[in-house]
Amino acid sequence: MDNYQIADTFSLLSKLMDIHGENSFKVKSYAAAAFAIEKLPMQLSELAPEKRAAIKGIGDTINKRVTELLNTGQLTQLTEIIAQTPPGVLEMLSIKGIGPKKIAIIWKELAIETLGELLYACYENRLTRYKGFGEKTQKNIQESIEFYFGTLGSYLYQQIETFAHALQSVLSKAFPLQTFAITGQFRRQLPVIEQLEWVTTTPVNDLLSFFATHQYQVISQTNNFTALKGTENVTLHFYHCTPAIFGNQLFETTGSPAFLTAWKQLIGDYQLYANTGIESNLFKTAGISFIPPQQREDGDIIMEAKKQIALPTLIVPKDIKGVIHSHSNWSDGSNTIETMAESAIAQGYQYLVLSDHSKSAFYAQGLPVEKILAQHDAINHLNQQWPNGTFKIFKSIESDILSDGQLDYDEAILATFDLVIASIHSNLKMNQEKAMQRLLTAIENPYTSILGHLTGRLLLSRAGYPVDHQKIIDACAANQVVIELNAHPRRLDIDWQWIKKAIDKEVLISINPDAHSIEGYQDCKYGVLVAQKAGVTSENNLSSFDLHQMEAFISLQQKKRPYNSQ
Ligand SMILES: [Zn+2]
Ligand SMILES: [Zn+2]
Repeated sequence: MDNYQIADTFSLLSKLMDIHGENSFKVKSYAAAAFAIEKLPMQLSELAPEKRAAIKGIGDTINKRVTELLNTGQLTQLTEIIAQTPPGVLEMLSIKGIGPKKIAIIWKELAIETLGELLYACYENRLTRYKGFGEKTQKNIQESIEFYFGTLGSYLYQQIETFAHALQSVLSKAFPLQTFAITGQFRRQLPVIEQLEWVTTTPVNDLLSFFATHQYQVISQTNNFTALKGTENVTLHFYHCTPAIFGNQLFETTGSPAFLTAWKQLIGDYQLYANTGIESNLFKTAGISFIPPQQREDGDIIMEAKKQIALPTLIVPKDIKGVIHSHSNWSDGSNTIETMAESAIAQGYQYLVLSDHSKSAFYAQGLPVEKILAQHDAINHLNQQWPNGTFKIFKSIESDILSDGQLDYDEAILATFDLVIASIHSNLKMNQEKAMQRLLTAIENPYTSILGHLTGRLLLSRAGYPVDHQKIIDACAANQVVIELNAHPRRLDIDWQWIKKAIDKEVLISINPDAHSIEGYQDCKYGVLVAQKAGVTSENNLSSFDLHQMEAFISLQQKKRPYNSQ
């Protein structure tokens, strides 16, 4: 083991001890030893033990550790402290801009244990409430984590979208006589993208020389396939083909493996069809309705396409008529209620469902009862500005689902809200039995109108607690509870794969931005993109209700309540 490795070990030990709040004198002595060892002109391994102890910055205690390291290659003390540290907290040490002191606050005070949760806390503006975390620090942390995630090679759809479109336009300009069509995961609008793929008529060598001048590395290459990676660390795949089979190639690279297998079984071998320069011809030849690319995931959709003249019209972003699930600066949002309402109006929305955090969400400045009443006065006052049903702010709350499944206020307060969104934010580490008990209790609560972010997952960073989706859907159907499709690109929770089951049970979903600022409204789009994968139409989605329909929905929900404030 060389000096650098020894120094790194002590440096890590000192940082971890600092995070765990150990004696600062000891913390400093390990940091100083790391510093001294790194600068030594000779290797410690070549010195006799007594000579090592005499070196400034080492001494007897540290020398014992050095001996252990040299003899065994390990340090028991470090192994032990690593075992007491969540892996995500350990990972935080690789993020620029946060040292041990800040990590300790993030872990111990904000109860954040993974980088994904930390990134999400930045989006929710939660760091700035703690000592030493200004807006600038929060921004730096956010950017460093985004960069770090980028180095891992998988991206959220939203993160890679701009790059995908930019590259498409660069390629089209560079090869004006050739065709490029995006395909694969991106064309299917998956929430997480591992590689960007194109079908192209460009010859392999022409494409290779183009990318060579842009410092891309070739990962693999055959007669009709090229895989490359550039400095932005996105894997690119190109399928080369002639114009005559372009449609066929596009079809084959778009569908998931399960979809293509099912197609072969139900329709036949797509490679046998002639005249597939245009993809839609493949469907015509097969005699079935066109299946939009984002729905080509499994055989069910092929069965539907075989039965129907045309598949139902999918929801599009402009079908979202109101902003449901939003946070103002009364809790952890950045904007005033008035600004949020004005921005919603300017973007053509007919209503805003304001749902700040409830009182137990202390980390997010959840509203105590007095503040709820004051907020309702403020909303009443604002609502007078928009006569004749042109726009309305609805009174809502994102109520924490407490550990026993109860909501966060008593009935008299719950009854003052137009709508209650119930979500789990605390004690996320639980088994399925516990999660189900909490969720089902909340769903059965007559004041719950919408179940917020069902599993608590954060894509690429937190799996979320385990749930029995079908049981949740059945309970929501029985209790007239709407299931949120949280549209934040890192959540997209309920997962799209379960939405069809909800619709089959006539459960409404609601594409909600969970906006913490007016910019957050734009996330609705990402909810719509995954909803399309599940075949959602505007009739299946609560936030597509116009103001009039929303009011009717609210009065229907209020009939569930044993106690009414009105
Ligand atoms: Zn929430
Ligand atoms: Zn929320």
